[in-house]
Amino acid sequence: MRRDDGVAEERETGQDDRLVVVGGGQAAFALIARLRALKDTRPITLISAEQSLPYQRPPLSKKYLLREMTLDRLLYRPESWYAEHAIDVRLGRSVTAIDRATKSVTLDDSTTLAYDTLALATGATPRRLPDSLGGTLDGVFTLRDYRDADRLAEEMRPGRHALIIGGGYIGLEAAAIARTLGLEVTLIEAANRIVQRVAASATSDILRNLHLSRGVDLREGTGLTHLLEHDGRVTGAELSDGTTIRVDLVIVGIGVSANDRIAHDAGIQTANGIIADINGRSSDPAVFAMGDCAVLPFADMLIRLESVQNAVDQAETIAANIAGTPTPYHPKPWFWSDQYDVKLQIAGFGLGHDETVTRAGQREGSASVWYYRQGTLIAVDAINDAKAYVVGKKLIETGTTPDKAAIENPATDLKALLAS
Ligand SMILES: Cc1cc2nc3c(=O)[nH]c(=O)nc-3n(C[C@H](O)[C@H](O)[C@H](O)COP(=O)(O)OP(=O)(O)OC[C@H]3O[C@@H](n4cnc5c(N)ncnc54)[C@H](O)[C@@H]3O)c2cc1C
Repeated sequence: MRRDDGVAEERETGQDDRLVVVGGGQAAFALIARLRALKDTRPITLISAEQSLPYQRPPLSKKYLLREMTLDRLLYRPESWYAEHAIDVRLGRSVTAIDRATKSVTLDDSTTLAYDTLALATGATPRRLPDSLGGTLDGVFTLRDYRDADRLAEEMRPGRHALIIGGGYIGLEAAAIARTLGLEVTLIEAANRIVQRVAASATSDILRNLHLSRGVDLREGTGLTHLLEHDGRVTGAELSDGTTIRVDLVIVGIGVSANDRIAHDAGIQTANGIIADINGRSSDPAVFAMGDCAVLPFADMLIRLESVQNAVDQAETIAANIAGTPTPYHPKPWFWSDQYDVKLQIAGFGLGHDETVTRAGQREGSASVWYYRQGTLIAVDAINDAKAYVVGKKLIETGTTPDKAAIENPATDLKALLAS
C-alpha cells in the first residue's frame, strides 16, 4: 500500500492478501468480525446466496416463527457496519466453482473473483422428502432460512393439522411453536425414540413427556409411507403404523447435508463436509472451512458440529490463523433448544457414552442428565436447570469427573463440586 505522498507504508505480512468468504451465515460473520477486531485490514469480499445481511438462524424455529421477532432484529450488524469495516458484501450471489490453480472463484452471474485466501462457510441444506413420497407437494416445508420461516408462519393457522417428520431439535421446536399457535400436531420419528442421534434415552424420555403433556400426537418408530394430495397440495399422510391422518401442512426435519459440493468439485477433500484440520485448513492450505459445512477432528473422531458455538468458535480461531497467529481449535461444545417454556442446555458432546445419571432439579420439571464414557464425564443435558448446565460445563472443560452418587443425590450442592 502507498500513502498519498507515494511512500510505501510498513504493513504486517499478509495484510494485502485478498480474503474471499463464501457464505453469509453465523460462521462467515464471526470470521470477518474477528479479523477486523484483530485490526486486520486485508480486503475482504463476502458472497452470500441469501438476500439478507448475515443474521441469526436459531430464532427461526423459535420466536421468529411465532412472529415475535422481525428480521432486522436477527441481523448481527446493520448495513453501515460492513461499509465502515470495508467489507465488500455481495448478496443474492452464489459461488458455483473454485479454480485452485488460478486462485479464483466463479459466481452464478459468471463473474470471477481472485483470492489469496478462501474461507468456505457455506452451511448445510435440509434433507428433503423424496418426490416419490410427496416431497414436492405444496404445503411441505423445510426450515433453514428466514424465507422458509416466513412461508411456514403464513401456513401455521389455529385448527390446522401439522405433520412433523423427524424428532430432532428442529422438529421438536417446530412442534412446540405449532401447538403454541393452536395447531393440531402429529410428530413421527422413524427411530425408536426422539433425539436418538444426539441424546441419551433419559433426555428423550423427558422431552417425550413434555410434548405428550402439550397435546402432541407423538409416534416413535413410525415412518411416512407417503403423503396424500389434491390438486398438488398435501391433504393427508399414510403412516407406517397403518393409519391415515389428515394433514394441512408438513414440516420435514430429517437432518441436513453439508454444502460441500463446490469444494468437492475443486478436488478438496470432503466426507459429508469439507475436511478441516485443527487450524481449520482444508486439504488446500489456501482454503479454510468452518461451521456446519466443515468436518473437524474431535476426541479421536472426525465430526460435524451443527451449532452456533462451533460456527463462532471455529471461525474466530480461523481468523487468528489467517491473521498470522497459528491457533488450534479445540471445540468446547454447547448447544441449547427452547421448547414451550422449557430451556434445554447441553454442555459437551455425548457421543459414545456408556452410562448416564439423571438428577432431579430444585424446581418442578427441572432435571439434568449426566453422560459418562469409561468413567469420565463428557456431557450434561440440563432441562430448566441453569446451575447443572454451568457446573457441568466447567467440570467438563477442566476434565473433572464428579462422583456419580453425588450427582444423583438431589441434596448435593453442585457448586461445591467445582471446589473439590
Ligand atoms: C431453524 C434453526 C434453528 C437452530 N437452532 C439452533 C439452536 O437453538 N442452537 C444452536 O446452537 N444452533 C442452532 N441452529 C444451528 C445453527 O444456526 C447453525 O449451526 C449455524 O447457523 C451454522 O452457521 P454456518 O455459518 O456454518 O452456516 P449458515 O448459518 O447456514 O450459513 C451458510 C450461508 O452460506 C450460504 N451459502 C451456501 N452455499 C453458498 C454458495 N455456494 N455461495 C454463496 N453462499 C452460499 C447460505 O445461503 C447461508 O447463508 C439452528 C439452525 C436452524 C436452521
